[in-house]
Amino acid sequence: MDDCIIIGAGPAGLTAAIYLARFHLGIRLFDCGSSRAALIPCTHNHAGYPEGISGNDLLARMLEQAERYGAVREPAEVTALRVIEDGFGVRVGEREYGARTVLLATGVVNNRPDIDDALHAEALQRGLLRYCPICDGYEVTDKRVGVIGTGEHGMREAVFLRGFTADVTLIAPGGAHELDQACQDALDDAGIRRLDGPCGDFRIEGDQLSVGTAKGRQSFDSIYPALGSKIRSGLAVQAGAAAAEDGCLEVDDHQRTSLPGLFAAGDVAKGLDQISHAMGEAGVAATTIRNLLAEQRPIRR
Ligand SMILES: Cc1cc2nc3c(=O)[nH]c(=O)nc-3n(C[C@H](O)[C@H](O)[C@H](O)COP(=O)(O)OP(=O)(O)OC[C@H]3O[C@@H](n4cnc5c(N)ncnc54)[C@H](O)[C@@H]3O)c2cc1C
Repeated sequence: MDDCIIIGAGPAGLTAAIYLARFHLGIRLFDCGSSRAALIPCTHNHAGYPEGISGNDLLARMLEQAERYGAVREPAEVTALRVIEDGFGVRVGEREYGARTVLLATGVVNNRPDIDDALHAEALQRGLLRYCPICDGYEVTDKRVGVIGTGEHGMREAVFLRGFTADVTLIAPGGAHELDQACQDALDDAGIRRLDGPCGDFRIEGDQLSVGTAKGRQSFDSIYPALGSKIRSGLAVQAGAAAAEDGCLEVDDHQRTSLPGLFAAGDVAKGLDQISHAMGEAGVAATTIRNLLAEQRPIRR
């Protein structure tokens, strides 16, 4: 039985792997290769990289660091998680692996607008399409920005982006906007334009991304979809862990879920969806896991 199985090798899972391997614990690290960090063309808000670093380069560096201490990333999808005597059963393919503790670091998946995959990839790479105003709002300073969304979530994203540029348009994804009076007032107060949908038929035109709306085709320097995300907490919820209404796992200040021995870190847990936060949570989780295991059986060299 392993000391800990980490599910997910994004910034959270890899940070935990570095810590746990350096604690001389027996770990496994399963990952199905869809880290959100891999979508980052170049992050400029992650401390320590003044020139910025691509998400893939950051992940490769973290994996290299974890491997130095014996961690191995096994490319596989975990399909089930259950409580067994003294720990957890983690299913991968036909096999079930046993672990005394599990760290879930499976992240989230952004809901995308209806846009062709190749076009999506190019627009993302060129910063024409962006998903994280906290991360890269600075890069759209004084640019023409579109936000796809409506309701309170869309309003909040648009108002947040107003801190970077005066030229913000909120486009409803479907038909007409669904905005209550408070949302309309907040948008008016910030000077944010509204356009009804349906929005679609995306095209790259020169250095802009254009989109069809109820008022015809509109072009923007960057478009932010604000369509929410799917939280990849299903394995933990099926095993019995508590989650918030949006699907994020509930954790205490040591990253413990409601199931003893099951921990969560990164975007899958409630908190700020940022690399730095994912890494910090993983450091806390890994140290708590180490201390829990040491209580059960002294860790000695
Ligand atoms: C376009 C974009 C730009 C961003 N820019 C920035 C930025 O500049 N700065 C910043 O701080 N943040 C940025 N973020 C957010 C950042 O990427 C995330 O906060 C970060 O990746 C979260 O790390 P994580 O380890 O929790 O999840 P992830 O990085 O998403 O990793 C989760 C991992 O779990 C694996 N997994 C999931 N389910 C399973 C399973 N069942 N079995 C096995 N493996 C599984 C996935 O394959 C994946 O590798 C950006 C996000 C996007 C989409």
